[in-house]
Amino acid sequence: MKNIAVIGSGTMGNGIAHVFAQNGFNVALIDVNPTALEKAIATIQKNLDRQVSKGVLNDEQRETALGNIKTYAQLSEGVVQADLVVEAATENVDIKLNIFKELDKVCPPHTVLASNTSSISITKIGAATNRPDKVIGMHFMNPVPVMKLIEVIRGYATSDQVTNEIMELSRSLEKEPVEVNDYPGFVANRILMPMINEAIYTLYEGVAGVSEIDTVMKLGMAHPMGPLQLADFIGLDVCLSILRVLYEGFGNPKYAPCPLLINMVQAGYKGVKSGEGFYKHTPGSKEIIVSSQFKK
Ligand code: NAD
Repeated sequence: MKNIAVIGSGTMGNGIAHVFAQNGFNVALIDVNPTALEKAIATIQKNLDRQVSKGVLNDEQRETALGNIKTYAQLSEGVVQADLVVEAATENVDIKLNIFKELDKVCPPHTVLASNTSSISITKIGAATNRPDKVIGMHFMNPVPVMKLIEVIRGYATSDQVTNEIMELSRSLEKEPVEVNDYPGFVANRILMPMINEAIYTLYEGVAGVSEIDTVMKLGMAHPMGPLQLADFIGLDVCLSILRVLYEGFGNPKYAPCPLLINMVQAGYKGVKSGEGFYKHTPGSKEIIVSSQFKK
């Protein structure tokens, strides 16, 4: 695999493009929104500069990585030569099914189609194509250039050969792939989201405040960030939609999202992306300030 197409150039797509380009792959970065593409290239440049200043890359490697990326507004133009497509578009099942139906039509027969979805069934996405054996999950973690894990998700019909190819390719990106089967939330979010939801219930029931809950988990369990702060970084809307996938997928009330989380999302308090969630977030500032909604 040499030619990679990345669909969606948002938070995850720019990081995925960065990592492939840094490791010598030709990358076609595709987005329906031209502003998102411009922003993505600026972010990749900034992150490559940071790697140069830390001595991880030299100037020549930075230029080569940047030169490996081309941007496209049209999906059909960007994927014609792709050996692998990694879809990292908005987490919406209809958007993803439409993208995969189109990919199946316009990509060469050998192209493997991967999704970076956090929660949508790989089996369902595969069934929207005529090549479900070549559809797989590649769940990168945020920030992609920094985080080592790739959760490689086998759909019901994904072949052994494609799974092995993707495991090997992930190692060539200096990542640590872990193979898992396709059930709601896979492994990462099946374990992480109930913990975040329980932290929100703990706050909702008045057991402790925001910073107390996060401090217990940071100092007591050696987590680098407390669950409420992490939820703000992931996006409270994203947490809610993953919990709904778990709740519906397993039909088990233990995954029911906390009413406080639902209220916050409805009110537009989505965490870092909206400027406020459990904490108040000011761009450029690393200060940790609990939202005034939760101050005693
Ligand atoms: P994002 O909103 O930052 O970016 C999504 C991009 O997709 C946008 O730029 C949008 O213009 C583009 N897009 C939408 N429809 C498109 C289409 N039809 N064709 C091409 N581009 C299209 O989202 P994100 O946070 O980068 O998430 C992307 C995917 O990665 C989701 O499936 C999400 O669940 C998954 N994911 C996110 C994280 C995270 O921490 N943000 C972590 C792991 C996985």
